[in-house]
Formats: sequence, C-alpha cells, structure tokens
Amino acid sequence: MNAVGRLAPTPSGVLHLGNVVAFAAAWLSTRAARGTLLLRVEDIDRTRSRSDIAALQRQDLEWLGLQWDREVPMQSKRDYRPFLSSLHPRTYFCQCTRAQVREHGGIYPGTCRHLQRESGAIRFHLESAHITFHDQRFGTQSIDPTTFGDPVLQRRDGGWSYNLAVTADDVADGVTEVVRGADLLEYTAVQIQLIEAVGCARPTYLHAPLILGADKRKLSKSHGSMHIGQLRSAGWSPRDIWRLVLPWLGITEVDHLHEAIPYFRPDGGPLGPIQLLSSSDEGIPTPTKGIQWMTQKERS
Ligand SMILES: [Zn+2]
Repeated sequence: MNAVGRLAPTPSGVLHLGNVVAFAAAWLSTRAARGTLLLRVEDIDRTRSRSDIAALQRQDLEWLGLQWDREVPMQSKRDYRPFLSSLHPRTYFCQCTRAQVREHGGIYPGTCRHLQRESGAIRFHLESAHITFHDQRFGTQSIDPTTFGDPVLQRRDGGWSYNLAVTADDVADGVTEVVRGADLLEYTAVQIQLIEAVGCARPTYLHAPLILGADKRKLSKSHGSMHIGQLRSAGWSPRDIWRLVLPWLGITEVDHLHEAIPYFRPDGGPLGPIQLLSSSDEGIPTPTKGIQWMTQKERS
C-alpha cells in the first residue's frame, strides 16, 4: 500500500521550532516510505485562523524544503455532516453548560446520553474499554477514555471540533500515517474510536518530541524569537535550522533535511520534551551563537 502522510498546519500562529520538528518527522516518514505527502490547512477554528498567517506558513515550509506533493481542501471548505451522520447511533444531543461540566471536574459524565434531547451540542458516546494503540516513538499506549468524557463533535453554534474534523479528513484523504507533535498523543485514543466507529482502518501514529521554551512552557506564539521568520531575518539558513532540529529526531550524520531520509528512524532521538535554553528576553539568537537545548527525560 502506498503511504500517505500529511503536513497539517493550523494558521493561527506563524511556524516555530516546535512545529518544524513535527513537520520534519512527517516529511521524513513519508519520504522514507516513498509515499505521498499532502498539505492540509487546519483552519477549523474560524475565530483564530488567518489567511495571511496561512500564506506565511507556506513560505516557511517551502524555505525549509518541506515540500508537499498535493494540497487537499482546507477544513473551512469541507462538509463534515456526512461523516457525523455515519457516527449515528453513537452520537447524541447534549444541553449541559460549561459550568455543569466543571462541577464534574471538567470531565463530561455523560448526563445527556439517555435523555433523548432534540437539540444542543452533539457528543460522541465513547466506549468504556481502554484504548490501546502503538505509537512509533512512544511505544504502546493504553488510555482510559473516561479521562476525557464523551467529546463534543459539533458545538451548539454549529462549529466542528478538532477531533471530528481531523478524523473525517484523515479518512477522506486516505491518510495512512499520522505524524504530529506529542501534545496530541492523548487525542489519538478518541480519534481511533471515531475511525473505528465508521468502519475504517486506523492509520499508523508517530508523535514527535514536544519542544519547550526556556520558561518550560510549550513553544507557542509568545516565544517570538523561536519563530522561523525571526530566525531567518537574524541570518539563519535552512541548513542552520536543520543542524539544530535534526538531532531532536536522532539524526546527527547530516545537516540538511533532504540528505536525512536514509538516516530517519521513527523512534530515533530523545523522547522529549526538549527544552530550549535561549530565552526570548535575550533577543533572537544568531546562527553562530545557536540555540542550546537539553532533554528533560532521557530514554531509559
Ligand atoms: Zn449533557
């Protein structure tokens, strides 16, 4: 079977080093399998997504050499109603408020499952059995779905949830390998139940190490000096970026993405999280100075 992977940027913030390591893992995994790499813009969150940021992300991806083979429709252009219908009878209406869910420690207890409500948010009835899956980096994961509570698939205002959109997209696009950041590792359990509820085969999973700023918080928009555009304007070349990022995937033999394909192993490099030691307060690091980093947890 031909491998199909995807680069799936969310256009709510410009690309930073944390995004780059996850995209590099996706790119290398698909290229090593001689598969097809898709670009899918995940703009399901209409309030936070911006078309100017989507354009900057593309520029950064191309500059880094993270080319894709084909672009598939962005999420805002898709119709998720058929996929939602195919999940019936595992779906139900819920009229609980956020405050009511908070009373249960923020985990939805399934109050409306059997109440035959006729409107409201649409939730998915998770099976109570543990969900076991293999992650190519983190190994076998066994996750108790009750730690999430039945997830919302469509909000009361009609908006679609990330879990619903990403699962429907992966099925529609024929994705066979899901490669993304470790912050999404746990969501995999929910997405597997959704995929299996519509009778489709699950893809393979690989979660790239999480990258933290000097403040030990997940790299984000607020870590301005770790943005690719900022580093580029401070004189960094793509090769300078890859010299920093490829070792996070265990590749130290070469310092360019396109030369790294034969050295890629899904479980190569530290599990993470990886903490960057250059703080945003010190300004943008130069390529000569580089960015120091350490792994928070070494592989046992
Ligand atoms: Zn409810």
